[in-house]
Amino acid sequence: MRTIPGAWRRAARGAGLLSADGAPSPTIFAEMSALAAATNAVNLGQGFPDTDGPAEVLDAARDAISRGVNQYPPGRGDADLRLAVAEHQQRFYGLTPDPATEIIITAGATEALASVLLGLLDGPDDEVVVFEPHYDSYAACVALAGARLRTVPLRWPDFRPDLEQLAAVVTDRTRVILVNDPHNPTGIAFDDETRDEIIRLAEQHDAIIVTDEVYEHLLFDGRAHHPIATRPGAAERTLSISSGGKTFRTTGWKVGWVSGPADLIEAVLSVKQFLTFSGSAPFQPAIAAGLRLPDAYFDALVGDMQHTARILGDGLRAAWLQTHAPDGTYFTVADAGALSVRDAHEFCRALAVDGGVVGIPLTAFVTSGDRQWNSLVRFAACKRPEVVEEGMRRLAAYTATL
Ligand code: PMP
Ligand code: GLN
Repeated sequence: MRTIPGAWRRAARGAGLLSADGAPSPTIFAEMSALAAATNAVNLGQGFPDTDGPAEVLDAARDAISRGVNQYPPGRGDADLRLAVAEHQQRFYGLTPDPATEIIITAGATEALASVLLGLLDGPDDEVVVFEPHYDSYAACVALAGARLRTVPLRWPDFRPDLEQLAAVVTDRTRVILVNDPHNPTGIAFDDETRDEIIRLAEQHDAIIVTDEVYEHLLFDGRAHHPIATRPGAAERTLSISSGGKTFRTTGWKVGWVSGPADLIEAVLSVKQFLTFSGSAPFQPAIAAGLRLPDAYFDALVGDMQHTARILGDGLRAAWLQTHAPDGTYFTVADAGALSVRDAHEFCRALAVDGGVVGIPLTAFVTSGDRQWNSLVRFAACKRPEVVEEGMRRLAAYTATL
């Protein structure tokens, strides 16, 4: 087999996707969605909704195409979308970023993360602190930048971080503390004590805080999302990332954004403009329309998600799995340890083939080698209630055979 040089191997290894013989694997989401299609399983794995987003948003995209919004938008993003992001930040959080200098539009949160990490990291002396389990692209991008990932565990069953452990991991080598809040895969929202400790440590060690807030509108029980950037001392050192995919059930549109201090945004733009230059033109005004929807839309979105999350949680427990009740997001984590599961990835493959349901092993979100999450599986609630119910019927039938 020919040896292909280059940084691809670092990315694959960083994300734990390089096999012993040096071959790369697809991401867990690609693997599990392909398995769901091949086995006709109920796909509660990859987090994408099975219903369309709001008509106003879909119509705005069609309208934009008809109006000829089909050429390159500005590299920073459509000016009206940047304005809509600024209005949204003010309306929900009281933040006032300048749309001209403090916001850029990206190809999803994924490109935002890649641009930020490639832009702010520079080689093996730079470290990024993340909570583990963590979203898969973090490790891949940190590895591409040639930097080091340092992890702080979120332990089952409550997934709360140990702040002393956090303080021990953040050092003068820490360039970035990367916080996903609300958190995928655990479904937790961080509390203010944790947020303030992150800010204190970032100040002490002169690190940048990067937040990934793509589940900002999916907190249950009437809880409001509090971006770290709203906490005292945070705004001047925080880059906040979000996207329209989860909020408007348009995960395939890939419209995201970064907001923060102008000098940091400029550094991120320096990389972003050579990744995609600009995002997809007609979807930008459509997401702007979404961000301006009335509160009733956002309330209904989270109400529906909480409803299916409840069906999911009840179903998981009925199938003899222990669950952690999420504060929000698309996801619920369940422990299959009582069913003698010791390898969640194997369990998920067997569950798809023999049980007709797909979940995502938490091991796919772990890069430290720590095995404490080996019996945990993430299930997604972002499907129609009858689909989640069917998935839970199948799960209970399968676990009854174990
Ligand atoms: N961050 C987290 C935590 C996610 O769950 C996802 C995937 N939905 C992303 C980033 C990527 O978002 P996007 O699809 O907007 O690129
Ligand atoms: N964010 C989605 C999830 O966590 C997956 C997106 C992807 O496939 N990269 O399920």
